[in-house]
Amino acid sequence: MKTIRLRAGKEKSLLRRHPWVFDGAVARGGADAGETVRVESDAGQFLAWAAFSPNSRIRARVWSFDQAERIDTAFFAERIARALKARTLFDIQSDGVRLIHGESDGLPGLVVDRYGDTLVAQFTSCGTERWKSVLSQALLDQTGLQHLYERSDASVRQLEGLSEVTGWLAGAGPTARVIREHGWRLELDIAQGHKTGFYLDQRDNRQRFFQWSQHRRFASVLNCFCYTGGFTVAALAGGAGQVLSIDSSAPALAQALANVRLNGIDEARAPMLDADVNASLRQFLKEGRRFDAIVLDPPKFAPTVAHAERAARAYKDINRLALQLLVPGGVLFTFSCSGGVGADLFHKIVASAGIDAGVDAYISERLGSAPDHAMTVSFPEGEYLKGLVLVRKP
Ligand code: SAH
Repeated sequence: MKTIRLRAGKEKSLLRRHPWVFDGAVARGGADAGETVRVESDAGQFLAWAAFSPNSRIRARVWSFDQAERIDTAFFAERIARALKARTLFDIQSDGVRLIHGESDGLPGLVVDRYGDTLVAQFTSCGTERWKSVLSQALLDQTGLQHLYERSDASVRQLEGLSEVTGWLAGAGPTARVIREHGWRLELDIAQGHKTGFYLDQRDNRQRFFQWSQHRRFASVLNCFCYTGGFTVAALAGGAGQVLSIDSSAPALAQALANVRLNGIDEARAPMLDADVNASLRQFLKEGRRFDAIVLDPPKFAPTVAHAERAARAYKDINRLALQLLVPGGVLFTFSCSGGVGADLFHKIVASAGIDAGVDAYISERLGSAPDHAMTVSFPEGEYLKGLVLVRKP
């Protein structure tokens, strides 16, 4: 068994059960990509078993803090069993479910989503890459499913020195799937869709928007960065009169329209606009248009803290415009999925957008990701999605 020894004082985060070892913390030792290493303190004390990543700034990711544990096939089967068990404890109103959420489930570098009869897996670390066939077999055995598609095309693989890979690991066939989510159905494509095919993390926030739409019967809604129309369908199903959906991706908009039809909704209630959100918001303001409710769910502006300042300006800009476009009493669902922008900072950004807009608003709710994307106390990085529901003062 190979060992990596940390520099003096660098054991602190591991003692708090944070699962990452950064390159600067390592005094000596090394191993092959994905190989299990014993991580020890400067004094030689056992800290963890971890997967080594020779090219990544995150030099090792912890499998276990228990010295007695062996990192083998049985270990991975047990970790997967526990993650699956946890999903039965959460209230998940969908057959599109995140089964494994990386670090939060003790499996750093592994994401597995289930879309009906099909599993989609993303292996983003040297450790999960090395154990891919063991992990895949355990997933198939324990779910009893026969279809497993690999979506290891996340850009973070480059940081690990891994190339992008996609394709069937088990089973084969068409890649379109329809999931049932709360009271609606949504079609997605596991090969072409973002992430593993869809934004499952927004499931319960779409349900909140559905409930707000039921309660307020918004006449006109604007869904910005609509992707394949999840929030659009939720609002229309809830009784919103018309939802204008904006995205700069034509295939996403085509799927959004198909999803409106799939739910038996008249497409006249769902105009689609292929455009840049920022430019559109400015245009609407010039034209004096107003909306009863707006959703802002932009892509990740700040993947890491280093991008936070620029991202803050971008978030502030669209939030200011959106607040100005709301009627008094109007409702804004605003989100950030940037790991580099924490909940407090996001809150401040939105508050200062309100000041710039000259708009006073109630903060009615704070939102996060759905429970199958849960974070744990020892891994705060797991909290990437945060949202606020603002109500413009009447
Ligand atoms: N709300 C969606 C997920 C949004 S993902 C859901 O619930 O499923 C972000 C989307 O923003 C992507 O579809 C991407 O195509 C779109 N996008 C990124 N930059 C954009 C821009 N400047 N203008 C319009 N759309 C943009």
